Amino acid sequence: MKKNLFIALEGIDGSGKSTQVKLLAEKLIHSGHNVYTTCEPTDGPIGTLTRSILKGTMKADNRTIAGLFMADRLDHLLNEVNGVVKKINEGYAVITDRYYFSSYSYHGTHMDMDWVIDINKMSTQILRPNVNIFIDVPPEVAMKRITANRATTELYETLENLKKVKEKYLEAFEKLKKEEHIFIVDGNRPAEAISGDIWAYISGQILS
Ligand code: ADP
Repeated sequence: MKKNLFIALEGIDGSGKSTQVKLLAEKLIHSGHNVYTTCEPTDGPIGTLTRSILKGTMKADNRTIAGLFMADRLDHLLNEVNGVVKKINEGYAVITDRYYFSSYSYHGTHMDMDWVIDINKMSTQILRPNVNIFIDVPPEVAMKRITANRATTELYETLENLKKVKEKYLEAFEKLKKEEHIFIVDGNRPAEAISGDIWAYISGQILS
């Protein structure tokens, strides 16, 4: 019997989350899991609205943006067609690229982090990840990766902002270390080395 798994990948933009989601999915599939990979913001209606703010085609106050992310997160969990809760109940190991720590850090740079944590409480009650994996990359390195590989950048993707977001991630991990499982991995290395460390943690601490 395979354990139901819910794993969140966290990190600043360009830290390598989507790369690591793919590599982790391959390893889980290889070890016999059915895997469902997903991300936030979602491609559902609320996530699509949120993405249009990130792309700059729509404007909203930071508090409104935090509320939209929270609503999209609930849809991500509870959607009757492809919600994470449904997928877990069907026996999938679910890996998400971003979950509530992204809200704590990105929105915590603009407003009181405790308020952001409060409005996301429902998600923590519905589904807490077996582990939140933080890919730790210097903001300068992440920014170089973003600009090398893309013609456009999004709302939060400036060096100054990524520095603040990284600090807020670390602040949130410290604040919530009693109730959350957190694994910080050095992301300033080749993707396969990072993936190897993530797999060692998951196979050693969670699957064993
Ligand atoms: P994120 O999902 O966190 O924004 P990505 O996985 O999309 O990050 O990676 C951002 C860019 O950096 C991509 O072009 C990707 O190929 C590259 N990249 C990912 N991981 C590494 C790594 N460990 N070393 C160097 N480049 C990487």
